[in-house]
Amino acid sequence: MKVGLIDFDGKIPNLALMKLSTYYKQHGAEIFLNNVPKDADKVFCSVLFTWSKRKAEQLQQVYPNIEYGGTGWDIHKRLPAEVENCNPDYELYMIEDILPRINGGIASKESKVKKAQTIIDAGIGFTSRGCVRKCGFCFVPPKEGEFRQVATIEDLINPESNVVILLDNNITADPLAVDKLHEIRDRGLVVDISQGIDVRLITPEIAQALSEVKHLRSIHYAWDLMGFEKQIIEGINILSERAKKWRHMCFMLIGYNTTFEEDMYRYRKLTELGIKPYVMPYNKQYPSKKHHCFAGWINGRYHTVCEFEEYEPWVKAQRECSEQISMVI
Ligand code: SF4
Repeated sequence: MKVGLIDFDGKIPNLALMKLSTYYKQHGAEIFLNNVPKDADKVFCSVLFTWSKRKAEQLQQVYPNIEYGGTGWDIHKRLPAEVENCNPDYELYMIEDILPRINGGIASKESKVKKAQTIIDAGIGFTSRGCVRKCGFCFVPPKEGEFRQVATIEDLINPESNVVILLDNNITADPLAVDKLHEIRDRGLVVDISQGIDVRLITPEIAQALSEVKHLRSIHYAWDLMGFEKQIIEGINILSERAKKWRHMCFMLIGYNTTFEEDMYRYRKLTELGIKPYVMPYNKQYPSKKHHCFAGWINGRYHTVCEFEEYEPWVKAQRECSEQISMVI
């Protein structure tokens, strides 16, 4: 039997596809990742982002029996229990599957290859699922439901690597967070808390435990809604006392329910605190021109060399807009 697995838009190895690979290999199948022959007996496609859905649908013309899943396709779709219970297949992904997806930026080819190798070898999974909050812009509450424990840190380790990609939706809300972080530290693991931490829930104990583990990337968190300013700043201050600020990054959602003045306010507040901001437009596919420019100004680090009003793409966008208005008049 030939089984095709298509990772349509992921940047890191896809846990569901890795489990499907294990399951079908156990049943004697030959597995194809992304380059799937037309005569495959079964084809599964994972779609993470809603904006990929229409393009992914076109695969039905090639594979009439294709089965879709993933957050971008249907948040209620689940793997069958017998697949969910499988370990991920760490041999599914090759460097060339991940490299093109992380290829942006100015790093050398050699360091990108090294990064891709680290990512494909890393243990990956959830120790808990669900969240204690219900943020209106987030798919986690309807998809994952109530917070619950699902596995241990040990369960997530790939013996071939000391890196673990933790997919937990809200590790800071976990009553076992400190114990899990201590286990990560004591096992000498390097962790990528890929979904970030909820800095509003940080305690001195969690902050201390976070500071004692090795992180693959920054310790990241988000300031999305204006109403949480006090808790966010308090959390940042608690964390900053234990984990150096250069290790932090704060995501800022824009275009959901904040004004541009509020976006600028959050940016200024974070930089005053010495925290690196990173902007995430709510409408990632079609952000407004202003949001697009604001994200470019901050994420491209141009805010360190000029004011937003002087940022060339925004100056150009305004010029084009006023030219269009004068043509209409
Ligand atoms: S805290 Fe994070 S994971 Fe939980 S609902 Fe809000 S955005 Fe989603």
